[in-house]
Amino acid sequence: MADCIFCKIAAGEVNAKVVYEDADTLAFLDLNPQAPTHALVIPRRHIPSLTAAEDTDAELLGKLQLAAARTAKVLKAESAFRLVTNNGKAAGQSVDHLHYHLLAGRKLLWPPG
Ligand code: 5GP
Ligand code: ZN
Repeated sequence: MADCIFCKIAAGEVNAKVVYEDADTLAFLDLNPQAPTHALVIPRRHIPSLTAAEDTDAELLGKLQLAAARTAKVLKAESAFRLVTNNGKAAGQSVDHLHYHLLAGRKLLWPPG
């Protein structure tokens, strides 16, 4: 999608610190980290949010979960991390390209704020 910052990162048109990638997904460090380890895991293909995903996206969503687990291993965070998506503006979504936040490296409170 032309105006999407995460599509541009996936296309290599905008720089990001990529920590994991495969044919369908990409993970890179968040520009404004909320924990010592904070990566964003995205599908390369533009899907606006989790609720915008369709039945035909099922395989890609599975790959995204696996990519998150692999990213956690790359970042040596596999023993303790949080994976979260903000779905909708009121939930804090500011970039309309599906992404999971992978947070680790500090005590993660529950319930989250
Ligand atoms: P959201 O608020 O949509 O759940 O998460 C969007 C995240 O993307 C935010 O944590 C924000 O810091 C991050 N972000 C926004 N623009 C960029 C960018 O250009 N590069 C990187 N690496 N992260 C970004
Ligand atoms: Zn996009």
